[in-house]
Amino acid sequence: MTKNVLVTGGAGYIGSHACKALKAAGYVPVTFDNLVTGWRDAVRFGPFEHGDLMDRARLDEVFAKWQPVAVMHFAALSQVGESMSDPGRYWRGNVCASLNLIEAAVAAQCLDFVFSSTCATYGDQDGVVLNEATPQAPINAYGASKRAIENMLTDFGAAHGLRSVIFRYFNVAGADPEGEVGEHHRPETHLIPLILEAIDGKRPALTIFGTDYPTPDGTCIRDYVHVADLADAHVLGLKWLAAGKGSSVFCLGSGTGYSVRQIVDAARSITNRNVPLVEGPRRAGDATQLVSGSVRAFAELGWAPQRADVAAMIADAWRWHQTGHYER
Ligand code: UDP
Repeated sequence: MTKNVLVTGGAGYIGSHACKALKAAGYVPVTFDNLVTGWRDAVRFGPFEHGDLMDRARLDEVFAKWQPVAVMHFAALSQVGESMSDPGRYWRGNVCASLNLIEAAVAAQCLDFVFSSTCATYGDQDGVVLNEATPQAPINAYGASKRAIENMLTDFGAAHGLRSVIFRYFNVAGADPEGEVGEHHRPETHLIPLILEAIDGKRPALTIFGTDYPTPDGTCIRDYVHVADLADAHVLGLKWLAAGKGSSVFCLGSGTGYSVRQIVDAARSITNRNVPLVEGPRRAGDATQLVSGSVRAFAELGWAPQRADVAAMIADAWRWHQTGHYER
């Protein structure tokens, strides 16, 4: 029997990698995407349904057509800086859109739900290594919008029996090791692709956002996780839900923190090219350090990152950067 999974944002960076992992695990990933930030070319592993999460009638139609066994909800706005300058876009595009989707899923009795949340829900915790029990205190509208959706899932679980796996991602990086899909944002705002663009002259330099943080080299520390490892976690999460384990939250990180300067150094040595740098001011909404100290995903899902070394992530991103691109 085919097992369809509705993948919102399946044309995006993480969603497209998850579709590949779902297909490899025997599921049919049905991408639902409005292509505002996603790419039609990235939908390679299952059917495509063009639509917007704000369009409830369209959602109902797609649920009725495909009868999915579960939802994986990737579609979101995800830029910290933009969320500070235009919070309304984040509350509408993330929270209102997710409410529509969750209500449509409940109406269709599709009650297994995997949600992409973020370590940005924690805020600035002053050097604390984070786990699922760490209190959430977001310092930007992006993190606040994701925390609101987490709360929504809990309430819909209590009222309507929705079962959710909430993944709090740390910094996702890399590209499909087989080169079929990769990262492509327009505009690009993420550190590793920006470094690669600076390396090959597509932008004049990488600006380091803040060199006066209370860290050993003054730059922010993040925990990077390979997108293919993250995709694998989603399949494990889906199986965990299908096994009737209930609902849970899992942090997905490698447990190792790297500063912005360490990532720049790693990119320099992997590409063997110079990285033009500018030291700039802090970016609004950035936490000093976000590192996962969680073992829950390892213990409960049996998930362990296979490509935990940032060198592997940067090497895959570099290969994609040099050869991969999408057209809408
Ligand atoms: N960063 C930077 N320059 C850039 C983009 C990002 O110094 O042009 C820093 C940013 O301040 C953060 C880290 O790189 O400390 C990762 O940022 P990114 O936007 O990739 O992910 P986020 O942590 O916001 O999810």
